[in-house]
Amino acid sequence: MTAPASPSVTDYPGNLYVVAAPSGTGKSSLVKALMELDSRVSPSVSHTTRAPRGQEKDGREYHFVDDATFEAMVSQDAFLEWANVHGNCYGTSRQAIDDQIAKGTDVVLEIDYQGALQIKKLYANAVLIFILPPSWDELRGRLERRAEDSDDVIEVRLANARHEIVQAQHFHYVIINELFDRALFDLKAIVHAQRLKYAAQRRLHSETFTGLGLTSLDSID
Ligand code: 5GP
Repeated sequence: MTAPASPSVTDYPGNLYVVAAPSGTGKSSLVKALMELDSRVSPSVSHTTRAPRGQEKDGREYHFVDDATFEAMVSQDAFLEWANVHGNCYGTSRQAIDDQIAKGTDVVLEIDYQGALQIKKLYANAVLIFILPPSWDELRGRLERRAEDSDDVIEVRLANARHEIVQAQHFHYVIINELFDRALFDLKAIVHAQRLKYAAQRRLHSETFTGLGLTSLDSID
């Protein structure tokens, strides 16, 4: 659900990482750990119509807005993408992303697969990462141990997860979160590899490139 556009390869210095996963897979913990380790990576704070949970603060986890405000933002084309996820609306504001990647910040979007696929259509060089659980038994166990949801809600989340993981085939990278440290290592490796691409290296080490006579601005992606 977004304004259609052909994918553009932006020449922004910052990278856009889009991380999706079914509920209970450990996506939020992995992204949080990445940001604690790497100050060049920032979150994108989405807008949502759902109510804040527990200690959540407006402007930190989400911008919490009412239905009318969300609808007004949709009609003003303020969202890069938005989706209805489990009965609530969530959207990524266009301005928040462009401002950050234009100034060289790497931005992580922790959004559902519908939003991720919309971003892929808009930004040809966005990096899409899907987190998988190691097995259905383990995912069920994690949802039960989390003790946040009733049995019925857990069943709904598992049913949704079966539908969601099929989308992993459309993502660039897949991380299996069996051991947290291993999965975090994998996530860091993806971020690091992105920074070693020709265009990024040329931007960061322009003197070395010029000294070596490497003046081409073209790269394979
Ligand atoms: P929760 O309500 O548990 O924080 O999030 C529910 C789902 O909505 C998660 O899969 C989360 O990643 C996703 N989500 C959060 N923000 C956005 C957004 O801006 N766009 C989309 N498409 N999904 C989002």
